[in-house]
Amino acid sequence: MLKITKFGGSSMADAGQYRKVRDIVTADPGRRIVVVSAAGKRDKNDHKITDLLYLCHAHIQYGVDCSPIFDQITSRYLEIRDDLGLTLDLESDFAALKKRLDAKSVSQDELVSRGEYFSARLMAAFLGFDFVDAADWIKFNMDGTVDQDASYSALRGLVHGTGVVIPGFYGVMPDGRIRTFSRGGSDITGALAAAALDADVYENWTDVSGILMADPRIVENPQAIPEVTYDELRELSYSGAQVLHEGTIFPVREKGIPVNIRNTNDPEAPGTMIRESFQTDTDPQRFITGITGKKDFSIVSMSKRGMSNQVGVLRSMLSVFERHGISIDYTPNGIDNVSVVVPTEAVAPCLYTILAEIQQEVKPDSLAVHDQIAVVAAVGRKMAFRPGISGKIFAALGQSGINIRMINQGPDELNIILGVDNKDFAEAIRVLYNSFVK
Ligand code: ASP
Repeated sequence: MLKITKFGGSSMADAGQYRKVRDIVTADPGRRIVVVSAAGKRDKNDHKITDLLYLCHAHIQYGVDCSPIFDQITSRYLEIRDDLGLTLDLESDFAALKKRLDAKSVSQDELVSRGEYFSARLMAAFLGFDFVDAADWIKFNMDGTVDQDASYSALRGLVHGTGVVIPGFYGVMPDGRIRTFSRGGSDITGALAAAALDADVYENWTDVSGILMADPRIVENPQAIPEVTYDELRELSYSGAQVLHEGTIFPVREKGIPVNIRNTNDPEAPGTMIRESFQTDTDPQRFITGITGKKDFSIVSMSKRGMSNQVGVLRSMLSVFERHGISIDYTPNGIDNVSVVVPTEAVAPCLYTILAEIQQEVKPDSLAVHDQIAVVAAVGRKMAFRPGISGKIFAALGQSGINIRMINQGPDELNIILGVDNKDFAEAIRVLYNSFVK
């Protein structure tokens, strides 16, 4: 049994968290490959090391001394080291880095990658595992994608049965320069390691006991989702829930490796299991997997008499958006009308040009824009072919006086998407949660 364990920033925030990580890793002999993030926040008012590193780089760019911030970073790591009783010499590494920083000879990517680098060095020393640098195996192509074959075989050549710790978030370009993933990218490093080594499971340890059924800022104490498919997760994250970096799923899904989201602060909790599909239904009463959503959409709707009998009207409307590089989220339609739902922020800069072009090219009978729309998505693989779910959703919202502005459901029935006014967003999520979960 081989488990890849990835620990996020909050699990690496101080020496106490390092001890929790050690207890988790040593509790299971399958946990031999550990991927770590940079130290995260210790409390609400604290700073993530990665943020401080970006800040350092910005200072240098503008010719401002970054020493106070750099010292803050250094002392976070030295504090962890001393508290754990380790003797690793980090001082000379930090001094060499500072020298290069002052000489402006460190790229932004290389600088911010040092957060995970130092985390991994410390964790390797603490666990008595080998340190395997991500720069020695995660190989980027020139276009910024990962060369999976080259990376996988490089990692296989570096791991020989003993425990290893790998820094997340970065790899190396063909010319040897360090390159990072986008923010939150240590999740991808873990997924790549799992795929490279054909792991049995990819455990992603964070500070919540799994993916929650709804946003805890909206619903008080929402339940965790025990089981979710990759497809459902895609729907949940597309519509608003932030769980894993979006580049995480592809490498593990390709190899059929399940992902288990776990909580470092509650290691007994089973967390959330993410798989292609589930053979047995452990909770037949639960029809909805999760409820999520996003605010601030605009609906551009047009009607044109006789449109249903004309060919190409929809295409000409959509091609206006395409020309402006606007990605469309939903296109609910009637017989002689169609609406295009897009994030307001994306469409706002060119809205009037778009409207003028639709007017000119599509010649609609009416054209209108509705703002302040929120999208609410009820996601669940078990909704498919089960009558009554949408009825229950509409009844619950109706009884709470929430007006539904748009309805969208694909034939795979994986989700039901509703448009409501921004002002009703939080209440709509609470109403759905209460009627399906409580
Ligand atoms: N440390 C990086 C960040 O804060 C990457 C990660 O933690 O996944 O974005």
